[in-house]
Amino acid sequence: MACPQFGLTFDIGRGPVDFIEIPLILLTHGHLDHASGIPYYFSQRNLRKLLPGKLFCPPEIAEPLQRMLAVWSEIEDYEIQGSIEGVDYSRDYPLKGNVFFRAIRSVHRIASNGYLLFEKTKRLKEEFKSLSGPQIARLKQERTDLFHEFDLPLITFSGDTKIEFVLDNPLVQQSKILFLECTYIDDKRPVERARMWGHTHLLEIAAHAEAFRSIEQLFLIHFSPRYRPSDVRAALRQLLPDWLADRTVPVLPRD
Ligand SMILES: [Zn+2]
Ligand SMILES: [Zn+2]
Repeated sequence: MACPQFGLTFDIGRGPVDFIEIPLILLTHGHLDHASGIPYYFSQRNLRKLLPGKLFCPPEIAEPLQRMLAVWSEIEDYEIQGSIEGVDYSRDYPLKGNVFFRAIRSVHRIASNGYLLFEKTKRLKEEFKSLSGPQIARLKQERTDLFHEFDLPLITFSGDTKIEFVLDNPLVQQSKILFLECTYIDDKRPVERARMWGHTHLLEIAAHAEAFRSIEQLFLIHFSPRYRPSDVRAALRQLLPDWLADRTVPVLPRD
């Protein structure tokens, strides 16, 4: 899922040609439907004389991915340049202006991250809100505690995860935009089975709808290919409360 305004992509999939120009990959986990394009991406950036690509991932897979790139350098008989780094969960990484990203651990079958893009911003404290513009300007000369600083979550990308990624993280619930995996939509694949494989079921999103109250737009991704797009759209309307269905967009192949 490319996010060109911040020069990054969440995962790389099989490595679409359009993504090669993007300098940064935030990799959620190592399953091949999310990660198989990595060597092609790095190699193509070298061939096109672009700056070496950069990738962040769960710490457990940084070294195996570096080894994979070294093996592919051997196969290509050419030293593929690129940086692969395990992410530090306690760090906010600068992206652009006041916008940063942070990795949040998700809950899948293997080591996995979601990523939060947020703006470090500040808001006038309650006690100063009744003052006029000129009064505030004057006070600003005298004191530095007029504003309180906070993180405004803009976009969260879940990767593959159980629904706990949403339920356990208030910042995820406050994101303006949330990309959330929703692999299964009906009883043929029941909730328990989805959870066993570290995935989210539409019935769980419906059952926890209140956790999505503050989200302005919910993009659901990663539907199982067994479903027809028309079935997915019908299930969203049927299972989600109207207010949530109205702000939910399924990301689907064209039907
Ligand atoms: Zn996966
Ligand atoms: Zn997947």
